[in-house]
Amino acid sequence: MNNKYSDELWLGTLGNGEVRWVAVGMTNTVEEAANRHHTTPVATAALGRLMGASLLLASSMKAEEAITLRLLGDGPLGGVVAVGNPQGEVRGYVQEPQVELPLNSKGKLDVSGAVGAGEFVVSRSLANGESYTGMVPLVSGEIADDLVHYLLNSEQVRSAALLGVMVGKDSHVAGAAGMLFQLLPNASEESVQALEALLARIQGISQIAADSTTMEELVRELIGDLDYRVLEKRPVQYKCTCSKERVSETLISIGKEGFEELLEDKQAELVCHFCNEHYRFNEEDLRELYEQVK
Ligand SMILES: [Zn+2]
Repeated sequence: MNNKYSDELWLGTLGNGEVRWVAVGMTNTVEEAANRHHTTPVATAALGRLMGASLLLASSMKAEEAITLRLLGDGPLGGVVAVGNPQGEVRGYVQEPQVELPLNSKGKLDVSGAVGAGEFVVSRSLANGESYTGMVPLVSGEIADDLVHYLLNSEQVRSAALLGVMVGKDSHVAGAAGMLFQLLPNASEESVQALEALLARIQGISQIAADSTTMEELVRELIGDLDYRVLEKRPVQYKCTCSKERVSETLISIGKEGFEELLEDKQAELVCHFCNEHYRFNEEDLRELYEQVK
């Protein structure tokens, strides 16, 4: 496992404050996702990038809120889902984790080929219990471009995004990071040009994530050419919301008849999609739950 530096999400501004940025270092978190779901390198890259996108978007939300991103493409990966919250907690899964594809023409993992054509779906769950879903067609399937396209078309926010996951020869995650720049509505042409020049210079965020030894170094390597301020730092981790109690509620909800069939089997096992945790119920557990079903 890569433990070079702890995963964190940093928020800040550039220059005169007309550009807000969010950076996430997530090498360990993506490694954990890969270990939990036994993903091939291209599936790790797609899942890791989407997890990063969910953290970047969620960073401006309030506590108790969360963002769910879905890639619904027609490629061999099937659907990819990630849920992030502003506390830096993220979880996700991919429908077909075992997909293998040849490298693309640039010699990189072919994420867009694995995702295919389809929709990019963004759902925001708010603290008041409401949720909003927006959808745009996938423009590239490389995920960073899709995030930028979504923000412009659904939220009228001009932005730029970088998302990268580098998988080493041993299938371990060597580096994973994401960065989002958002232009304030009144941003000057000067700020736009400074940002464009910066983006043109950055070569491969996953390589920078792999080469950095601290989060500070990662941020400096990415944006150090410009004046920048760091406003906030938050920890990032893979965290699922499942528990035996929650899974029990699911079992109870199947109703009396369905539950009696489970009792006949004398055991049940449920697997959480998001973290691949296996929850086992023996006959005694099932009898106890059955009292609640009746
Ligand atoms: Zn779980």
